[in-house]
Amino acid sequence: MKFELDPLPYAKNALVPHITEETLDFHYGKHHQAYMTNLKGLLEGKPEANQTLEEVIKGASGGVFNNAAQVWNHTFYWNGIKPNGGGEPTGDLKAAIERDFGSFASFREQFVKICVTQFGSGWGWLVEEGGKLSLMQTSNADLPMKHGQKALLTCDVWEHAYYIDYRNLRQKYVETYVDKLANWDFALANLKG
Ligand code: MN
Repeated sequence: MKFELDPLPYAKNALVPHITEETLDFHYGKHHQAYMTNLKGLLEGKPEANQTLEEVIKGASGGVFNNAAQVWNHTFYWNGIKPNGGGEPTGDLKAAIERDFGSFASFREQFVKICVTQFGSGWGWLVEEGGKLSLMQTSNADLPMKHGQKALLTCDVWEHAYYIDYRNLRQKYVETYVDKLANWDFALANLKG
């Protein structure tokens, strides 16, 4: 693998006012970058350095797993939000959400709940397994691929994701994520991929 972060898929000020440039400076430029720098150091001179990131995640535990998974989780998170995102999805994704959650409103309520009730640091996920959509909470660096689930979309609920912009108001951040930022095209591409 190349030990470099993918560039952000938008300008650092593109998510204002929902996520500020200052948050992206820290969250992408410091936190995400640190996971990559740590991973590079941990794998230097080891055979795993030649594996893909996914292979490293599936085979690793401890510090290598934590840093590799956090590199993957953050790249996935950046791609799962966009300027002028959020609101209700359309087409096949809307149909799948209505099939498996009853309605978009019910999905939204449950998604916000799992993100808000994840105790401490972690992630809230929309996942697919066996043709059915469901929700998943993970702690720290843990992620769906370690549990045989396919990730469609994620919300980072580590405090570093929202504390600059929302302070302690995690629920407000998560509601903004769903209403203003979620990239449903990305979620649909993952569902079909
Ligand atoms: Mn984060």
